[in-house]
Amino acid sequence: MFINGQWREAASNKQFTSSNPATGEVIDQIPAGGAEDAVAAIDAAHAAFPAWSGRSAYERSAILYKAYTLMVERKDELAKLMTTEQGKPLRAAANETQYAADFLLWYAEEAKRVYGETIPSARGDQRFIIFKAPVGVVAAVTPWNYPISMLTRKLAPALAAGCTVVLKPAEATPLCAIAVFKILQEAGVPDGVINLVTAEDPKPIGEVFTTDERVRKITFTGSTAVGKMLAGKAGENMKRISLELGGHAPFIVYDDADPTHAAKGASLVKFLNTGQACISPNRMFVHESGVDAFIGELTSRVERLRAGNGLEQGVGIGPLVNEAAVAKVERQVEDAKAKGARVMCGGHRLMDNGLDKGNFYAATVLADVTPDMLIYREETFGPVAAVVPFKDGDDVLAMANDTTYGLAAYVYTNNMAKAMRTVEGLDFAIIGVNDINPTSAAAPFGGMKSSGLGREGGHEGIEEYLESKTAGFSI
Ligand code: ADP
Repeated sequence: MFINGQWREAASNKQFTSSNPATGEVIDQIPAGGAEDAVAAIDAAHAAFPAWSGRSAYERSAILYKAYTLMVERKDELAKLMTTEQGKPLRAAANETQYAADFLLWYAEEAKRVYGETIPSARGDQRFIIFKAPVGVVAAVTPWNYPISMLTRKLAPALAAGCTVVLKPAEATPLCAIAVFKILQEAGVPDGVINLVTAEDPKPIGEVFTTDERVRKITFTGSTAVGKMLAGKAGENMKRISLELGGHAPFIVYDDADPTHAAKGASLVKFLNTGQACISPNRMFVHESGVDAFIGELTSRVERLRAGNGLEQGVGIGPLVNEAAVAKVERQVEDAKAKGARVMCGGHRLMDNGLDKGNFYAATVLADVTPDMLIYREETFGPVAAVVPFKDGDDVLAMANDTTYGLAAYVYTNNMAKAMRTVEGLDFAIIGVNDINPTSAAAPFGGMKSSGLGREGGHEGIEEYLESKTAGFSI
């Protein structure tokens, strides 16, 4: 753990293991932090806040810029670590590391653009000035699926704004978090400004984060259930909160779109990170005129995806995070089969060629998915493409919006007016139009409905870490 500029064990001296999801091998022992460690980390962050927030934005920017440079220099090394600990193929891990570095660069730049405002007063002898101030100590909780970029997406804007941070990474990926903190330390982040509390059991840490009055803001990325619980407790104690939670993305292919082109996009985006992404398409609504071509192209591409250890050349799809994740996918696929879905490829665990040692499920395409199936409602977080045909007269926007989630959506059409109407009609906050990657450090990311609160990235991302102070001057 990293507290007040020192690398140390947990106060209890307990440890837990980080292991490779492709092989089951133990990689390292990690300090199993508890409430006492979380309090020590908040002590450090609280003590460091006045000096850090008192530095000029230019000084904070220079440190973030240095961290960006270091992360890009170490991209290959970080990617290898990520593949070993999280499982995604090496190229995807390198792409994620670049995306993570992009947040450091973007907020190195945004740090210098935290503008206030002057507002005319109705009184001739009064002036209003709106100042922006950092919120204070931030507690961050991050997930395992993007174990480096989800840290910089929170740390970079918080540091740019002048906040200090205590971060608890996911129990499955603590080594990636340690690597990020080493880079920030080397870049010159002062002692106490960032603190890392690793833990096997997140509950006592979450309890401290939501109740310690020195924590002014909680930022969380993870499941909707945990996010709602943390938001409830944060609300009781009047802490600001940002939540980036689950999704159930629709992927709409209209009749005027090229179904083969759309299927190519679907095969790329659905199986990224083995489907373990909150923006992963969960329901592919394809007009009946193109559905056979779509399924044919998708299936032929998916059949060619080679599953295995992401460090090996040619592996296109890695393991799932753990056995529970495999069991969830299996349950959804079995349920869909029992209710009439057709399995075009995959549809089972992978056990041969040593894959039984990891958490592997075959990349799967399901045709004829219907609203009564679990997969139509529940987030899958696994390598299953569920295709739902629709016909003329069906209200596909209503079908797409028929979910409690509202994170990402995708639409394929060559009709400009239809694209615009679809974007306006979808209750989702990130929409790809003939585009499978509508994300960037420069653009806001976040969800509507049960997908969360607040935005990360872009110029909006830094606002989450700032208070507005209104000063009225009588002159
Ligand atoms: P997933 O099901 O994808 O693992 P979680 O929401 O359980 O999603 O995990 C996301 C992050 O939330 C992880 O860092 C995890 O340790 C943390 N977490 C889970 N439960 C709690 C809790 N009760 N308090 C604080 N953090 C928690």
